[in-house]
Amino acid sequence: MPALQPVRGTQDLLPEEQRRHRFVVDTARAVAGRYGYAEIATPIFEFTEVFARPIGAATDIVQKEMYTFRDRGDEEITLRPEYTAGIVRAIISNGLTQSLPLKLFASGPMFRYERPQKGRYRQFHQIDVELIGVATPLGDIEAIALGAHVLEALGVRAQTELELNTLGDAASRHAYRAALVAFYHRRRGELSEDSRERLERNPLRILDSKDSGDQRVNDDAPSFAEFLTTEAHDFFAAVRSGLDRLGIAYRLNPRLVRGLDYYCHTAFEFVTGALGAQGTVLGGGRYDGLMGVMGGPETPGVGWAAGIERLALLIAEPPAPPRPIALVPLGEAAETRAVLLAQDLRHAGFTVDLGYSGNLRRRLARADKIKARAAVILGDNELARGAAALRDLDSGDQTEVPLDALMERLISFR
Ligand code: ATP
Ligand code: MG
Repeated sequence: MPALQPVRGTQDLLPEEQRRHRFVVDTARAVAGRYGYAEIATPIFEFTEVFARPIGAATDIVQKEMYTFRDRGDEEITLRPEYTAGIVRAIISNGLTQSLPLKLFASGPMFRYERPQKGRYRQFHQIDVELIGVATPLGDIEAIALGAHVLEALGVRAQTELELNTLGDAASRHAYRAALVAFYHRRRGELSEDSRERLERNPLRILDSKDSGDQRVNDDAPSFAEFLTTEAHDFFAAVRSGLDRLGIAYRLNPRLVRGLDYYCHTAFEFVTGALGAQGTVLGGGRYDGLMGVMGGPETPGVGWAAGIERLALLIAEPPAPPRPIALVPLGEAAETRAVLLAQDLRHAGFTVDLGYSGNLRRRLARADKIKARAAVILGDNELARGAAALRDLDSGDQTEVPLDALMERLISFR
């Protein structure tokens, strides 16, 4: 039988890698907590409709990227490709629209059928924040400030830049869309096949194309700014001056779109040059139309999601876990005693590694490998005196310590 492999685009997060992921999530959760966000978790799979309806049959995600299947009860199920739709579904299902505003933080795995490469996987992980029920630019400003703060706390803010755009309101978008369609029709021959298809379904998305031919055409595309209504213009001006006041620098990027119809006003991304083509680490925007599209009461919202794999590639080494104390029993009586000692020490808050087998040399080698701070060597002779040998593994110093004084002595090694 050939060795079993993980499915293409999935990966095992071995302890070292998982520690980096955990650091990203814990840091983001703590920062979001300071902004008053509470954590929510929604199911990893939903009825396909939950994503297909709001994300829209016309988008790349629904067309090509969703993991959709029929379960044994013949239900159409989809593994979540993003968090927002599931969270909004949860808000509606649980009647939470009665208690606005809602500030929610979440993290977990997402699934998209994409071509795997560095920073792009088929199962990947996101942290996500959603601010539901705030219609004013204050919501956008705070959401972006929270994103910047999380990146700062992770020590990666300096490697990123904030890009900002407005998608205006429905009237602005309607006028712009008509102008874009006319423009792309004139340049149709220069567009990629994907974009020629998008032209019918979702022309805004062409602005976001990664194809170099499309990008050349996009250089000449009409600018959205000319089509903004006064209200949309003022909304964006308020967001920008809010960011200015907070000292959060941004670059205007008129090509920045979120292709979904329910998005409006602010769109933003924190991008980095450090990850090659997978440069977006955090992206979000305002989605005032979403709750209505999903059958709930019209409710404004703004939020963002960030890719944990990409952040984990950017961060420095996360803080090391506490160094353990290694217990090294030699002989049967010592082993029996060591099990009890390990339990006492662990209950007192020490991290303790109990060597299971081998002679003194092998057990000390293991203590070294797990970066133990100190070793407690329990030999039959020492035990007979009610004592143990305590070895400082950094300095190599070794002293005999009475067992009843051991815990006190170990405190200095914590
Ligand atoms: P991209 O343009 O890179 O495909 P996207 O616009 O599809 O990104 P969003 O749907 O906004 O991404 O998701 C938010 C974040 O999740 C991205 O900025 C990125 O960091 C991360 N992300 C998205 N897709 C993947 C993936 N397949 N693998 C790893 N991370 C991903
Ligand atoms: Mg994508």
